[in-house]
Amino acid sequence: MKWYRFLAVAVALIAVNSLSAQQSDSTAVTPKADTAVVAAKVDSLPVKVDSLFNKRHTPIAPVRTLGVVAPIDTLPTMDDALQIVLFNDNTWRYVRTKPSPQDSTIFSEHWNNNVTHVYYGITVDHLPEATAIQLVDSLGSCHYPYKGWMSSKYGPRRGRAHQGVDLPLKTGDPVYATFDGKVRYSSFSSSGYGNLVIIRHNNGLETYYAHLSERLVEANEWVVAGQQIGKGGSTGRSSGPHLHFETRYKGQSFDPERLFDFSTGELRRADLLLKRRHFSIHAKFEQDFTDEEEEARQKAREEEAAKKPAAQYHTIKDGDTLGAIAIKYKTTVKALCQLNNIEKTTILRLGRKLRVR
Ligand SMILES: [Zn+2]
Repeated sequence: MKWYRFLAVAVALIAVNSLSAQQSDSTAVTPKADTAVVAAKVDSLPVKVDSLFNKRHTPIAPVRTLGVVAPIDTLPTMDDALQIVLFNDNTWRYVRTKPSPQDSTIFSEHWNNNVTHVYYGITVDHLPEATAIQLVDSLGSCHYPYKGWMSSKYGPRRGRAHQGVDLPLKTGDPVYATFDGKVRYSSFSSSGYGNLVIIRHNNGLETYYAHLSERLVEANEWVVAGQQIGKGGSTGRSSGPHLHFETRYKGQSFDPERLFDFSTGELRRADLLLKRRHFSIHAKFEQDFTDEEEEARQKAREEEAAKKPAAQYHTIKDGDTLGAIAIKYKTTVKALCQLNNIEKTTILRLGRKLRVR
């Protein structure tokens, strides 16, 4: 260990000690000066998924961008799945660098550094009706890949399936890892992606960063949210500098807008309920909201209808006038006219059924 590394370790240990003393009863701490990016107390890690579901429409701000800051060393903690990562600017943070026991296969099964798509034989039909995916745990780390407008959304495009979103950028702009994870692929892909980085995250999701001018991470490297993993470009099948960003689960793509609002850089929710139907190229994320709104409207219509009394009719007899009918049914001539789409002067035919309510 070189002397400056030793210094970084010492700084981090001091920071950890003072942190645990100061923040003994909070689950997540905000950065203290420049010593911490994002940190959390080790013994308060389990977060109830249902509490996360309740918060799912609360956008989550990105962690501080690490830019060209890179991890230089790691330290163990009391928690076997958690490590302290030290960066070359003397900052540090907790990172879950090992899969938790229940998903120990995430970084071993279907793990191949040489091909882009690795989930051979797994189709949408193999996936459950719905999968709950925790996007941010109590470490709270997330970051947009690139912030800006979208020139192309997820969905069918000119007879092909556009399985990601396109974010125009300037060549050389930094592209960031969205969550903590391990680089599964970092190569030039001849299938159109150009320079491509694929990161697999602890929750099983994979994120694809394509058309990069430069890749700054290698396969099998652990990365953290907000770490710059490449520079934007236009390599591969691309008509101008942009980031093509994909989100996949077990190899199946879904609309990345389910995760991020790319215009603000915010993560839309702390967890994601991925339904099987979301893996269709036609399943746009807005559709869910439309469905929810339509359901709400339908419910409102039903409630409104339930409040209204059932329709009531009066059969016109000799001598009836609108005025007399209105008095009899405790309504007004105006209301009768509106209900029956008639004028005050309309001749009432004998035997006609007039709606009075
Ligand atoms: Zn694209």
